[in-house]
Amino acid sequence: MKRLKKFLAIITILTIIGVSICGCAVSNKEEESFFYTTNPTEMISGEQQEVVEEKVTVPKYVFLFIGDGMGYPQLQTTCYSLGEDEKMPFMTFPFVGNMTTHNSESTITDSASAITAMLTGHKTSHGTLNMNEKGTKSYKTIAEYLRDELNYKIGVITTASLNHATPAGTYAHQNSRKNYYQIGKNLISSNFDFFAGGGFTDSKGKNGGNTSLYTLAKSKGYTIVKRTKQYEQLNSDTGKVIMLSENRVDEEYMPYDMDLDDDEWTLSDYVSKGIEMLDNENGFFMLVEGAKIDLCNHENDAATMIRETMALSDSVNKAIEFYNEHPDETLIIVTADHESGGLTVGYSLTKYETDLDVLLKQKISFSKFKTDYLERYKKGNITFEDILKDIKENYGFTPDEDETEQLKRAYIRSLQVGAMPSSELTKQEYINYGTYEPFSIVLSRIMNHRAGVDYTTYSHTGMPVPVYALGVGGEKFNGSYDNTDIFVKLCEIMELK
Ligand SMILES: [Zn+2]
Repeated sequence: MKRLKKFLAIITILTIIGVSICGCAVSNKEEESFFYTTNPTEMISGEQQEVVEEKVTVPKYVFLFIGDGMGYPQLQTTCYSLGEDEKMPFMTFPFVGNMTTHNSESTITDSASAITAMLTGHKTSHGTLNMNEKGTKSYKTIAEYLRDELNYKIGVITTASLNHATPAGTYAHQNSRKNYYQIGKNLISSNFDFFAGGGFTDSKGKNGGNTSLYTLAKSKGYTIVKRTKQYEQLNSDTGKVIMLSENRVDEEYMPYDMDLDDDEWTLSDYVSKGIEMLDNENGFFMLVEGAKIDLCNHENDAATMIRETMALSDSVNKAIEFYNEHPDETLIIVTADHESGGLTVGYSLTKYETDLDVLLKQKISFSKFKTDYLERYKKGNITFEDILKDIKENYGFTPDEDETEQLKRAYIRSLQVGAMPSSELTKQEYINYGTYEPFSIVLSRIMNHRAGVDYTTYSHTGMPVPVYALGVGGEKFNGSYDNTDIFVKLCEIMELK
């Protein structure tokens, strides 16, 4: 789907919903919970909702959307960038919870222990996937229970690689999230029905000497599709499928949404295809991860974060459309594994002011600026005036005198030392640049400060995250609880032993 068209579609949906919400606020009678009926923009009152709830028992179709690193600040910054009273459609779901995310060794979790908590009900240590801290005991995941006990088809979609921590949380049992090759083998033996998004990190093992995971998957009956042209040929008769985005970056991730070419598939396109592939009489469970919301928060790139969060919201809209066709049988949950970056709306020098429009003018991600521009600068034959022109073209502003000085200093550091591991940085250097390219990180920081937002860390934080739910059993997700309760609640709703 074309990027601009999609962006406008979001704004349109939001505008209409904004009107509906205002309508609710006018009358006290209408201040009851509401939920979607025939389309995401049409809502009915809580009274009618109870009638629907009486008819249903176990949801046949379950969607779990995880915005990696998508805490309250990421959601609210995205909403504010669209307009003061705007909300993404899933944020108007009738059931809302607040969830703590600490793991067994720290108030600040990583993605592997967080997904383990949510999908198995057990706290574990950093980097551990569905096992205890010592790696001596395996925990069965909700996806595996649904596969084994209810014969549901299982789908896993991510913008990261398929063997990255969060998608691996559905099927892998490893003492380290970095055991990519072993995790890939766990994926293949999971027999899950549909995987889509990125490829395999370390597909031939750490040293490249093993049989390719793609070859192994094929030999176990998976159809592997790597070209956009072939996607449409897939249908529910194809059998088990692994669909990879045609262009993959870094460790086999999908590109950032704002960097996709017009004919490349977005996360929401994969969700649509997943629904088509998984729909069957027994039911399905689909985990969808907006993985790179986390990455751009690590990079303190708020503009890209907004676009990634909107891309996840777009993909939830596909599930909402499906819900509207099957309201008595569908459950949708949207949450995050943790907050990343310590983002906030507010920055010391801008005080009570914000100008989030600044962030919407950025055309390419921090990562793409680095690969397409900074790498070229490093080869020489470029003047700083030319660089300022590139900044104007891609970030939409001309730096003032003070910002130009900051950028020049960072540029020299990028040319001289570039990105460095934390072990080789002084405390102050780490605070200034993290382990990133100094020029890129300073450019993003200038953008953030112009917008009136700021980050406190290049890592995750220990803040709680919201949970939004719609559909059968959704009311269980109201209230305050811990991430391990997601598993408990899902087991109750699905009536698993
Ligand atoms: Zn992270």
